[in-house]
Amino acid sequence: MRALTLRGAHDAAIAETDDEPLGAGDVRVAIAQVGLCGSDTHFYAHGRIGAFRLTGPHVLGHEASGTVLETGGEVTDLVPGDRVAVEPGLWCGRCRECLAGTYNLCADMRFLGMPPHAGLARERVVLPRRAVHAVPAGMTATRAALLEPLSVAVWAVGRAAVQPGEQVLIAGAGPIGTLVARVALAQKAARVIVADVDDRRLARLAESTPGVETAHVGTGSADGAGNGFQDVAADLDCYLECSGAPTALDDGMTRLRPRGRAVLVGVPAAPTFALSSTLIRYRELTLTTVHRYAHTWPRAIELVSSDAVEVDDLVSDRYRLEEGPRALAEAAAGEVAMKAMISVGAS
Ligand SMILES: [Zn+2]
Ligand SMILES: [Zn+2]
Repeated sequence: MRALTLRGAHDAAIAETDDEPLGAGDVRVAIAQVGLCGSDTHFYAHGRIGAFRLTGPHVLGHEASGTVLETGGEVTDLVPGDRVAVEPGLWCGRCRECLAGTYNLCADMRFLGMPPHAGLARERVVLPRRAVHAVPAGMTATRAALLEPLSVAVWAVGRAAVQPGEQVLIAGAGPIGTLVARVALAQKAARVIVADVDDRRLARLAESTPGVETAHVGTGSADGAGNGFQDVAADLDCYLECSGAPTALDDGMTRLRPRGRAVLVGVPAAPTFALSSTLIRYRELTLTTVHRYAHTWPRAIELVSSDAVEVDDLVSDRYRLEEGPRALAEAAAGEVAMKAMISVGAS
């Protein structure tokens, strides 16, 4: 079968790869749509992300949907033709974290699309049953693929423990910041402010997401001399940093009320970052982090199928599988406004 394969930095191609054997507890899925994530683009541009390095040809993609082709003998609740969304993190199911339900922290996690585990931008994949979520028959394959980034937002808003009536600040008007804002609104936050340095992104968000306020912010300065968020409303209940910008976490936390909560969602551009110890102590602020998600697909499916969260407009550019290398090149060049979606099979 064909697969979108990364061979090195700035070197992607459609390559042939073998079908996997189907185990008794497995499901074979024909992939329909695959979204490209910032991490796919980063891999394409740099050949690595943090500790994850390319060691050989690697199939990208972790935001995917499809239809069931066949099931192993132990799978009794799915039949060929069922529409599904793929949860790309394959957890071990035996370690302390998995047994506690926080399988996102599994030490033996095999996350499809992160080397050495082949991703989902290919025609077919074999998955354990628990990695496959049935979606309502009427849900488009594009929406089903977008349940993965929506899961990131569902988990982040859950970690922030956003309560009805609260005032929420979000940094970053990209796909994740946009979804976090929409999930926070669905959680009945009274006020949702999204901050970004890019006015075009803010204008797009204001148009697409009724109820969101936008705030233009500066980048601040790494030496702590400037705060790019000084004109943003203050005394807010929680702050979700979704931009990865070096000073955004510290700058945004100045907007929190005493006992306010901050959640680091974006992957910081540098491995370490500075925080104002005075601010955190004087206000008794809480900082939490997120690592992917756990048990989020049911909620994500509910949010999309009830129209509580719009996702279609996240897709700004569409490609066919054979155009995947061009999709990566254009995303890496900053030519994809929001998200590239690759059509492998049905829409
Ligand atoms: Zn991703
Ligand atoms: Zn585990």
